[in-house]
Amino acid sequence: MRTIEHWIGGKLTGGASTRSSPVWNPATGEQQAEVLLAEASDVNDAVEVATDAFAEWSETSVSRRVKVLFAFRELVHARLNELAEIVSDEHGKVLSDARGEVQRGLEVVEFACGIPTLLKGEYSDQVSTGVDSFSFRQPLGVAAGITPFNFPIMVPMWMHPVAIACGNTFILKPSERDPSVSNVVAQVWAEAGLPDGVFNVVHGDKTAVDAILDHPGIAAVSFVGSTPIARYIHERGTASHKRVQALGGAKNHAVVLPDADLDFATDHLAAAAFGSAGERCMAISATVAVGAAGDALIEVLNPKAEAVRVGAGRDPASEMGPVVTADARDRILGFIDSGERQGATVTVDGRDIRIPGYENGFFVGPTVLDHVGTEMDVYTNEVFGPVLSVLRADTVEEAIDLINANPYGNGTAVFTSDGGAARQFMRGVQVGMIGINVPVPVPMAFYSFGGWKDSLFGDHHIHGPEGVAFYTRGKIITSRWPQGGHSRVASLDMPTAV
Ligand code: NAD
Repeated sequence: MRTIEHWIGGKLTGGASTRSSPVWNPATGEQQAEVLLAEASDVNDAVEVATDAFAEWSETSVSRRVKVLFAFRELVHARLNELAEIVSDEHGKVLSDARGEVQRGLEVVEFACGIPTLLKGEYSDQVSTGVDSFSFRQPLGVAAGITPFNFPIMVPMWMHPVAIACGNTFILKPSERDPSVSNVVAQVWAEAGLPDGVFNVVHGDKTAVDAILDHPGIAAVSFVGSTPIARYIHERGTASHKRVQALGGAKNHAVVLPDADLDFATDHLAAAAFGSAGERCMAISATVAVGAAGDALIEVLNPKAEAVRVGAGRDPASEMGPVVTADARDRILGFIDSGERQGATVTVDGRDIRIPGYENGFFVGPTVLDHVGTEMDVYTNEVFGPVLSVLRADTVEEAIDLINANPYGNGTAVFTSDGGAARQFMRGVQVGMIGINVPVPVPMAFYSFGGWKDSLFGDHHIHGPEGVAFYTRGKIITSRWPQGGHSRVASLDMPTAV
């Protein structure tokens, strides 16, 4: 059995770890590796090397840092297929989708290559007589990232390229469910010329996470995962005086207005609900059909849900793979059962799917539930599987109210041909990322990604300009080189410009 070790100080190590967790192949249902689970002393070791490395990396010129980033970009690009295969084998998502994930991560690396421009400060000449003001930003120190299973390469890349470009050192604690790709990313950073200790990987569970949250040597924590853990990370991390951004779970609604192009809308709804087996924080899991859109929508949508080709991630014919673990499958099946019990109609049923040759895989087929009510468990919980709930509303105002009554606020979308209704929708919803005829409105790397309400705890969205702000702190300098006249005058009064 392959053992996945930590990457600390530029090399693989088992550290003090004696516990491990199984890594499954979701398509076959077999265990393919075990990942070591760090003890607090392993986190301490990582912080020690990252702190030592920070002394030099933070003093490395921004031009030299960018050379490493460009080299890293080239290497990730060259190894895109290999990285996607590793992701697919442990996560289960189909290869084409995994390639897309690597590509979206790469775009953050490309954004971070522009760090000389992004770190530019401001300068004001002669704010008072003989006095100038200017600002610049400096790195924080050791930053840590704690990441979920569903994007094992992209979500960490929302963090480490930006943190490292800003001059920080980084400790990644990836999901224990698909950990392998993080070690390969570490090797790629090393090949790109990143000094040892700047990027480290500590695998683990709550023990490692708590050690990160409590460690006084870590200045900032970026977290992406489910809402209960995001809330916990924010509370415990800020209690130990860290800067924390904690992105949580989601319930993303797509509103379909009666004037929408139903064929277009249902193509995109099926893709957004069932792509990556619904295991995306921006997946559409609830559709609100307004007015007359309801019955027609179900009629056009159902055959598209039934047509999704489900199979192993490595099979090029597959459009949708298995879910990540047997537990995840059982949880999703439980929500479909409960929806049916609580009065929803299962119009497409993925519960009994069998994939020939992969009978032990963790598969759930695309499922559509109609007439879902806001009180049902399948609606109030984040299902995180290929299950689309359809709700009904009479007006766009009612649809907006329904979305705003939901505790999550990550993403949402409206399908319409009416610009006025789209504008009313985008201004009215309490959600961070909004699509207009775009069901999965994930911002490009040069914007920042983040939800509202229970989908994000902290003040900063991730990557883009807010990522740079998160991983740096500002200094503002007021400077005088005394010569003659006013520039020499001292006063006990509050300084005012002269
Ligand atoms: P998760 O919350 O179970 O795990 C995330 C990380 O937290 C992992 O590294 C895990 O090891 C750690 N963790 C788990 N339990 C913990 C505990 N009790 N104490 C301390 N640490 C703990 O999330 P997941 O199942 O890996 O990922 C799916 C979730 O992530 C979904 O809720 C999804 O919406 C969310 N997500 C959100 C975004 C976003 O941008 N908002 C993006 C991707 C995923």
